[in-house]
Order: sequence, then C-alpha cells, then structure tokens
Amino acid sequence: MDYLADRTKMIDASGIRKVFALAAELKDPINFSIGQPDFDVPDPIKEAAIDAIRKGFNHYSQTAGLAAVVDRLKAQVKTDYGWDNPPLMVTDGVSGGLLLAFMSLINPGDEIIIPDPYFVIYKHVINMLGGKCVYVSTYPDFKLSADKISAAVTDKTKMIILNSPANPTGAVYSEEEIKAVVDVAKQNDIIILSDEIYEEFSYDRKSLSIGSYYDKSLILKGFSKSYAMTGWRLGYATCSEALAPLMEKMLMIQQYTFVCAPTPLQMSLVEALDYDMTPYVDSYRAKRDRMYNGIKDAYDVAKPGGAFYLFVKTPQQYPNATEFVKKAITSNVLVIPGNVFSEQDTHFRISYATSDEKIDAGIEILLSLAE
Ligand code: PLP
Repeated sequence: MDYLADRTKMIDASGIRKVFALAAELKDPINFSIGQPDFDVPDPIKEAAIDAIRKGFNHYSQTAGLAAVVDRLKAQVKTDYGWDNPPLMVTDGVSGGLLLAFMSLINPGDEIIIPDPYFVIYKHVINMLGGKCVYVSTYPDFKLSADKISAAVTDKTKMIILNSPANPTGAVYSEEEIKAVVDVAKQNDIIILSDEIYEEFSYDRKSLSIGSYYDKSLILKGFSKSYAMTGWRLGYATCSEALAPLMEKMLMIQQYTFVCAPTPLQMSLVEALDYDMTPYVDSYRAKRDRMYNGIKDAYDVAKPGGAFYLFVKTPQQYPNATEFVKKAITSNVLVIPGNVFSEQDTHFRISYATSDEKIDAGIEILLSLAE
C-alpha cells in the first residue's frame, strides 16, 4: 500500500475499537467501556439547538465562533480566571482543539511530556506530527510528580500535557501537585496544555484549573461530557495574553481545516452555560461510590476523584490486562485494557457511565473474575 502517507504507519487501530470488535458478538453485554455519560442532553439545551436551526443559524460562523457565544464564553473565562477579553475560540470538541494546538506548537523532534496513563488521542496525534512523547509514570496512585516531570525535561521539551480530572484514572490533581509542576514549567519556560474536559465531574472538591496558576497555559474545555453532547462536537480553547500568538495560529489552522464548529449547535451553548447540571453530577458521584465500594475489597484500586472511570490493577493470576479483558469479555463484561492508555499493560479501565442495575450486575461478575 505504497500510496499511503508515511504518517499513517505511526498510528495503529485504537485498542478500544479492537475491544468493540470482540464485544460486537455479545448480546446485551455489561458495557463498562463507554467514554460518554448515559444521560441525554437536557431538553432546554436541545430546544435551543433546534430553535437555532429553525431561525436560520445554518451557515458558517466566524472561525472563532458566533460572536454571541464567544462573548458568553469570554465572560465565563473572566469570572474563572480574571482575564479581560482573553484570546478564545470555539473548537470542534476538545479533540479539535488538541489538533490545532499540536499543529501550532510541535516541530518534528520536539518532546512533549505526558503523564502515563494518558488519554489516547495525545500520543497518536503527536506521533503523526513527528513529535516525541516522553511518558512520566504516575503509577501506582496516579498523582502528579513534579520531580519525575523535572527529570524528564530536556532542551527539546516543548510542552507538558495535564488532564485533570483524568481519563483513564479519574485522578483530580491537588493544588500542591499543580503548583509543583507549574514551578518546573516556569523554570524551564515550557507551555502547559491543560485538558479540562471532565471539569464538571469532580466529586470531592472543585476541579482546579492550571490557568489560574500559570500564564503560559493553553486551556481546552469541552461540552461533550458535561452535557452528554459528544456528537455535537463542541469545545473551546482559551489562554492568557501571554499565549495570544498561539491562539492566532490555531485560528488560522481552523480556518483551513475545520472552518468552524457546528453553527446551530454553538447557539445551544448560551443556554447550556446557564443550565444547572448539579443533579447529573450528583448522580455520577453516587455511581462512583457504588462502583468503587463494590470492587475495592477484591481489587487494588485508587478511589478516583472525578471523570467517570476507575483504573484498576489486574489481579495477579492474569499475565497482563489484555488477557484479563479477554476473560472479562467472555464473562459478558466490557472493560478496556490499560495498554490503550499507557506504556504498560497492568491495569484496566472501568467506565461507570451506565445504569445502577448494570453497575451492580457488573460488580458481581468482576468479583468472580478476581477469585
Ligand atoms: N480529552 C479527554 C481526556 C477525553 O477523555 C476526551 C474524550 O473521551 C476528549 C478530550 C475528547 O473530547 P471531545 O468530544 O470534546 O473531542
């Protein structure tokens, strides 16, 4: 297949897809592999999108987004970070923002520090652009270690990627952890990219944003998870004036690639930002407790503070996580092997974004697999 570009050799099929292929044969499995909430977009937010289509918001928007939406988001950023009129653009999901940021920042050979385990997209897109991922292990408790990050810095380090609350571990970084890493970034003049897509799903304390601590942070926020609108492809990128040239380049690349985020769906954000999602988050906190309490005596697992995942150590009778996952699938439970999110295959990811009945039934099976 000589016609394919070299960069296609730098990626392989997502391990999640492989699990889905195996799982396709199952009837009514207990699906703990899903990376999106099990609730639907609240009705008033849907109505706002439908209304926007009816009112004719069906054309391209400006590259950065509809002015009314951008203004509303800037007001939010002003409240959260105190930045007046910050650089900001609406993106096609956080994935869109990641691609624009990586294309604007990464030269071949540049090193990007990524806490391991990590969200899958980072690795593959960075590799495609010729960047070098430098993984810093956060096992076994998934806390950020500034010392380990500092030891990984070289003169080629371009960026550190942080993701809190995190996929796949559910870890929520403390102020102390964030400040220590910010010190390392400041000393070495390194940009931090902060993926805050799970911001709303922080169960024990408010999720802290890196942007409040460091002016060279690029902040990516998303709506996919908080409003269960993964198919609407909406997020935004913002930063302080210190990174304004970066945002300008991201806008230019958006102009020649995505063009804009879906216009009528952008309109729904004005409604969404004022909509109280607390009851949904409360129900997910209860699911977190249900899942964690259900398996904690049988499995080695850190209690996650956010997102909707647990990252669990594979019982020692299995040689690795992939073998465990195969066994789980034959027992009708879908989970994802850790090597999809990590350079090691010792853990598996559970998503508890499903009904309480499924969680209870899945706990029973998981307990039997650990015996
Ligand atoms: N970042 C993290 C950590 C995620 O888990 C996901 C989705 O699973 C994304 C980004 C991408 O989200 P979006 O739907 O906004 O592109």
